[in-house]
Amino acid sequence: EDTVARIAAGEVVERPASAVKELVENSLDAGADSVDVTVEDGGTELIRVADDGDGMGEADLRAAVRQHTTSKIDGLEDLESGIATLGFRGEALHTIGSVSKLTIRSRPQGDDGVGTELVYEGGDVVSVEPTGCPAGTVVEVADLFYNTPARRKFLKTTATEFAHVNRVVTRYALANPDVAVSLTHDGREVFATTGQGDLQAAVLAVYGREVASSMIPVEADGDELPVGPVESITGLVSHPETNRSSREYLATYVNGRAVSADAVREGIMGAYGTQLGGDRYPFVALFLEVPGDAVDVNVHPRKREVRFGDDDAVRRQVDSAVESALLEHGL
Ligand code: ADP
Ligand code: MG
Repeated sequence: EDTVARIAAGEVVERPASAVKELVENSLDAGADSVDVTVEDGGTELIRVADDGDGMGEADLRAAVRQHTTSKIDGLEDLESGIATLGFRGEALHTIGSVSKLTIRSRPQGDDGVGTELVYEGGDVVSVEPTGCPAGTVVEVADLFYNTPARRKFLKTTATEFAHVNRVVTRYALANPDVAVSLTHDGREVFATTGQGDLQAAVLAVYGREVASSMIPVEADGDELPVGPVESITGLVSHPETNRSSREYLATYVNGRAVSADAVREGIMGAYGTQLGGDRYPFVALFLEVPGDAVDVNVHPRKREVRFGDDDAVRRQVDSAVESALLEHGL
């Protein structure tokens, strides 16, 4: 792979958290019931994502790291009809592999043979060998940006890089309470959801008892919402006394995807009004369902920022749904 391709890869994979996001999405796309994320040194030394999803045979594994290969689209029609699976560009593994040392071990579910281990370094397949492994897939990304020193220099401290990783994995854990998601950093388990609970249980596992016990349910659809594109708003928001000085705990989703949107954040903050001190933010896990044509996802695809055709209406809808929930609790 040439330098230009590596630089392009660095634009897509900005930091460890971006790789973690792609790997976790792949595990969820593969129908995993459990996804275990382990990182070392904020993910700069090692990222390991292990799942018990569909798994891959040798041919699938070779195909998986090729450029522009995806098992997830059949044609243009799929793109137009909306994407059910999370990833669809067929680029992530190839791209991550061009700026790291990538090892993938995988065995298809229901295949009693041994699995396959593929090693990929800086964009080349180094080896493909049989290996004993459980059904499912383990992807290891070592030495991210080892061959792109300029990009490596942009990485922040271990604490900052890990904070980004934590945020990404937390978002997926909250959106998928039926999947057991765990996160381990430098040998310490940061959280583990059971995969058997609801959103409340996932919040408990991720944020702990104090936050979980402060959560207030939000549930509004149809006539309960002011006029606007949002069809339903569900989730949990914290009691105003349970807050932090960071926006990081505003986990907002549109059609199941973790995204940030000014209209949604402003609606939430509007509902709390002066009950939060200046520069304080609640804990939120809020899920909006919106018709696909009312969302513009192309504002900043990598940062997951979206806008709506009618941002004002969305702001009012979110404000109203959250305010009703708080009011019901006498707040
Ligand atoms: P995309 O997800 O956009 O298809 P990726 O580069 O992320 O592209 O993955 C390429 C292909 O590798 C996927 O389409 C899928 O077939 C396979 N794959 C990747 N990760 C996994 C996994 N954890 N389990 C099963 N298959 C996987
Ligand atoms: Mg993918």
